[in-house]
Amino acid sequence: MGPRLIIVSNRVAVPDTPRAPLAGGMAVAVKAALKNRRGMWFGWSGKVAEESVGEPQAVEVNKINYVLVDLSKNDIQEYYNGLANSVLWPILHYRVDLQEYSRADASGYLRVNRMFADRLSPLLRDDDVIWVHDYHLMVLGRELRARGHRNTIGFFLHTPCAPPDILQALPHHRAILGGLAHYDLVGFQTENDRDNFAHYLVSQGATQTRTGYEFEGQKVRLGAFPVSIETKAYMRLARNAGRSAMVSLVRESLSGNRLVLGVDRLDYSKGIPDRIKAFERLLENNPEWRGRVTLLQVTPKSRSEIRQYGEIETEVTGLIGKVNGRFGDAAWTPIRYVNRSYSRTVLAGLYRAADVGMVTPLRDGMNLVAKEYVAAQNPDDPGVLVLSQFAGAAKELDGALIVNPHETDAVAAALKRALEMPLEERRERHAPMLDHLLENDIKKWAEDYLATLVGAQPARSLLAGIRALFGGQSDQAPLALR
Ligand code: UDP
Repeated sequence: MGPRLIIVSNRVAVPDTPRAPLAGGMAVAVKAALKNRRGMWFGWSGKVAEESVGEPQAVEVNKINYVLVDLSKNDIQEYYNGLANSVLWPILHYRVDLQEYSRADASGYLRVNRMFADRLSPLLRDDDVIWVHDYHLMVLGRELRARGHRNTIGFFLHTPCAPPDILQALPHHRAILGGLAHYDLVGFQTENDRDNFAHYLVSQGATQTRTGYEFEGQKVRLGAFPVSIETKAYMRLARNAGRSAMVSLVRESLSGNRLVLGVDRLDYSKGIPDRIKAFERLLENNPEWRGRVTLLQVTPKSRSEIRQYGEIETEVTGLIGKVNGRFGDAAWTPIRYVNRSYSRTVLAGLYRAADVGMVTPLRDGMNLVAKEYVAAQNPDDPGVLVLSQFAGAAKELDGALIVNPHETDAVAAALKRALEMPLEERRERHAPMLDHLLENDIKKWAEDYLATLVGAQPARSLLAGIRALFGGQSDQAPLALR
């Protein structure tokens, strides 16, 4: 049967369980990887326990084995809200100014990574292939090695990777980022992210080898593997959702207005304030568009316990109130703002109904919303994607109107151009992007990564499992794993 595939991530998206995290890109990808193969998905249950010492819980759903551990309140405070999301997340997104480092949080991060290794270690067989995901678990590989595991262990970073000068603003960065050298292969979203990390390693004394880098006695390979979506399935979903009662309701409520759509977790990396300012500038400079266009901003709250997230919320609600007050009238609200998440089906219908998809993060590892928007369009009459040059997706989706989100006038101009773009140009821009996504879907991503991790032969036997794990997405889990 070949080796088992063990996926490890902070959150685990067990389908149809209460409090299952939303099916972000990673969940979809991981499921595709595990389906129909032997293996398991190991990680946090999402539950808060008094003490994080209980035995891991194993559950099987749709032939996928999930092994779940609980975290304590303290773990969540120090590891998840603390080092992972108040230090690593801002630094990896180039926001050194937002990091709030404390030694207690750093030791909490190391403690939870050790706890993961302690719980996972007894479950491992010698030939298991292990694939660890994202910035919460950078030192898990080192901890597993310290427990004697010589398995093939890979890591994938779903976020961007900032350049060395920025990474070095992380106190004790070698203890955390240096942990990545204990993996056999570290995957990044783009070549730029990969190169930034390579430069960091070299700045810390790593030497280049024929296949990768050697750092403190560890050999590690680095690669770029842009994460993607289940393109075909998504197209089907959007086609059906486009005919749903919900979408008709939204269309009716717009009474003929054009629809601009933004879909983002409420996170400072997503550039929501800048986008609202650009929409305001559009209305300011183009009176003919007043009363004729609506921005629907779908913004589920995220990480609300962290101070910076409270601040971005205040800023966004303030700006939206200002624009609606300034330009709205009794019969028209320029911006509709909703702090809720929608199921995959509803979201796919909204994408299809939208004339313009606005994806303007200040920095984003990939941004799956951009890819989903393209896949959801009617190829005969597609909408236009306005995309930040700082999203990983911009490297692939070059038929979008690529913008610098910091330049309000340019984003407003791109928005106007998108709203007024003739059908022929819309089709010319959309078709190659859709082809690209059909060719480079989530399955291809998992296959490419695993083939590089283990070599082409064994990879084939791993793939069925990957498909099981990352495929067959249910509609129940609309939240991101982040
Ligand atoms: N999403 C969702 N419901 C919502 C909002 C978002 O299911 O109401 C999904 C969206 O379809 C996408 C994911 O959440 O698959 C967000 O991934 P992305 O890479 O765009 O950003 P992240 O949240 O991971 O930073």
